[in-house]
Amino acid sequence: MIEVDGLSKRYGGTVAVDDLSFTVRPGRVTGFLGPNGAGKSTTMRMMLDLDRPSGGRVRIDGRRYRDLDRPLLRVGALLEARSTHGGRSARQHLRWLARTNGIGEARVRAVLDQVGLADTGHRRTKGFSLGMGQRLGLAAALLGDPPVLLLDEPVNGLDPEGIVWLRALVRGLAAEGRTVLVSSHLMSEMALTAEHLVVIAHGRLLADTTVDEFVAEY
Ligand code: ADP
Ligand code: ADP
Repeated sequence: MIEVDGLSKRYGGTVAVDDLSFTVRPGRVTGFLGPNGAGKSTTMRMMLDLDRPSGGRVRIDGRRYRDLDRPLLRVGALLEARSTHGGRSARQHLRWLARTNGIGEARVRAVLDQVGLADTGHRRTKGFSLGMGQRLGLAAALLGDPPVLLLDEPVNGLDPEGIVWLRALVRGLAAEGRTVLVSSHLMSEMALTAEHLVVIAHGRLLADTTVDEFVAEY
């Protein structure tokens, strides 16, 4: 479970996140919907302690991210920032992540397979397409088999087949009891992926409701 309580973030004169409160519950996909610039990425970065709130707080399963023991095993995250992993291959990158987090080698093969990179995992990530980069980011997020997943615009760069695949994966992960927050600026995408919606604009909460209710009311 993720609890966001009165969260705010200002960058100079810009209010990116404005007194936001909501809860992300396990066992269903929660869509984090809002136009570009609404504050979704900033909120997710604050959930991961990558950005400091100007006010308010976030708790993940009752704790601050920085207080989690072996966070990669508690929270898997796919963010928008992309790196080339120092010229390493996808497999090397995942092996390194696994080693530094006490995760067994078998899990590397499992996640490469799970994200459809079994045959391309040996290639340097520098030559990866955007979609392959997203798949690798997802593999890294899944590596620790975490009960909480934060995915920021995960369909970016995926082809139509990949988008359908991702939707099924995300729904399956939630159905297994995980807490899953997926951001998107597309209502059409969220309607097909999420059961619950947290909708924001200009950093403020617009709706916190089921997809069905949101479609009926707005
Ligand atoms: P979204 O993910 O919904 O597209 P963001 O969280 O990226 O929105 O951005 C929210 C607002 O905060 C935007 O106005 C954006 O320009 C601003 N912003 C985000 N990150 C920074 C930053 N590091 N410095 C200054 N402004 C930022
Ligand atoms: P078990 O391994 O005992 O069957 P799990 O809950 O570990 O139970 O896994 C059930 C299914 O969910 C497996 O098919 C596995 O591939 C998948 N799975 C488990 N953990 C993850 C994860 N973090 N990300 C994606 N799929 C997972």
